[in-house]
Amino acid sequence: MLDTPPAPLALDLDSAALRANWRWLARQSGPAACGAAIKANGYGLGAREVVRHLLAEGCRDFFVASWGEAAHVLPQLGEASLSVLHGVREEDMPFALASPARPVLNSLDQVARWKAAGGGPCDVMIDTGMNRLGLPPTQSSRALLSGLAIETMMSHLACADEESPMNGEQLATFIGLSAGIDARRRSLANSAGVCLGPDYHFDLTRPGLALYGGIPRGEASAYIAQVVRPRAQILQRRTVRGGETVGYGATYTAHEDRELAILNLGYADGYLRGFSGKGLALFEDLRLPLVGRVSMDLIAIDVTAAPHLREGDWLEIAFDLPTAAARSGLSQYELLTGLGRRYERIWR
Ligand SMILES: *Cc1c(COP(=O)(O)O)cnc(C)c1O
Repeated sequence: MLDTPPAPLALDLDSAALRANWRWLARQSGPAACGAAIKANGYGLGAREVVRHLLAEGCRDFFVASWGEAAHVLPQLGEASLSVLHGVREEDMPFALASPARPVLNSLDQVARWKAAGGGPCDVMIDTGMNRLGLPPTQSSRALLSGLAIETMMSHLACADEESPMNGEQLATFIGLSAGIDARRRSLANSAGVCLGPDYHFDLTRPGLALYGGIPRGEASAYIAQVVRPRAQILQRRTVRGGETVGYGATYTAHEDRELAILNLGYADGYLRGFSGKGLALFEDLRLPLVGRVSMDLIAIDVTAAPHLREGDWLEIAFDLPTAAARSGLSQYELLTGLGRRYERIWR
C-alpha cells in the first residue's frame, strides 16, 4: 500500500507553551489544585495529547463534557481524576457506573438517578446565576444532596472575563451554600476566574481557554503563550492584473498588479469567513494580508512583498488568539474549537 500523502495544512502545537501556561495557572491558583478543561477534544488541539503533556506537568484533575469524551481519554488517565460536566442521562448510566470518571450532577433528576443506582463518588454543579446547568441554590437542593459522596462541589461564573458585579454575587452565593454541603473540595474558577484572585480559587480551579493560549482577562496577557499555529501550503502563485477581482463575490479588486498565493485553508477548517479581507499570513517578518473572501478550502494571500515564495512553500497563519478574535469577530473559544480535522496536528 502506498502511504497517504501528507496534508497540505498543519497545526504546529507547542507543548512547552501548553505546559508553561498550565504552570502559570497553577501558580496563580495558589494552594488550590489546578485542573484542566479538555472538552471539545482539548479545545480542538487533541484531548489525548493535551492530557499526555499535562499529566507530565503534574495536572491531576480533568474535565470533559460528555461520556464519549471521557471514554476517549480514560485509558491514559491512571489515577488522575476526570469529571463529566454534563452529568448522567439514563443512557449514560451503565457506562458511568462502571467508569472511574465522576458525573457532575446538574439537575434534581440526575441526583435522583445517581442516588437510586448507588452510584458512588460524584461531583455537583450548583447554579449561582449562570442559568445554564446546575441545581438551584436552595434549601431543598441541599437536602436532596445529603447521602451523596460528593467529591467536588462546583459552580460556574458567567462574567469572569469582565468587571461585573455578578462575579462577587456568584461568589457570595457559592460561599453561602457551601457551608451546608458536604463535599471534599470546592471549585468555582475557569481561566478568567483564576485571574480574579484567591477569593475565587477554593480547592480546585478549572482553566481551559488559557491553557491553549487564550487570554481570558488582561491580567494574563503577559504570561500566557501562544500554543496553536496553523500553517498552510501554497497551491498556486499567480499575478492578478490591475482591475481584476479575486474570489467568490468578487469582493476584492486589485488596483494595480498584485502577486497572490492561494493557500490550502478555508472555512471548512474552521478558518471562518470573518477573516475575509481581514486575515493575515506571516512570513519572516512580513505580515501578508488575506484578500477577498475565505472559501471552503482556499484563501488568497497578497504576497507581492515576498517575491521568493513559491508553490509548495508554507505560510503561517496569524493566530494569536486575542488579535485573531478581534480581527475576525469570532471568540477565542470559537477560533480554537472550530479547528477542523484536515490539519495534521504536529506537537513540538
Ligand atoms: C468549559 C468550562 C470550564 C473552562 O472554562 P474556560 O473559560 O475555558 O477556562 C470550566 N468549568 C466549566 C463548568 C466549563 O464548562
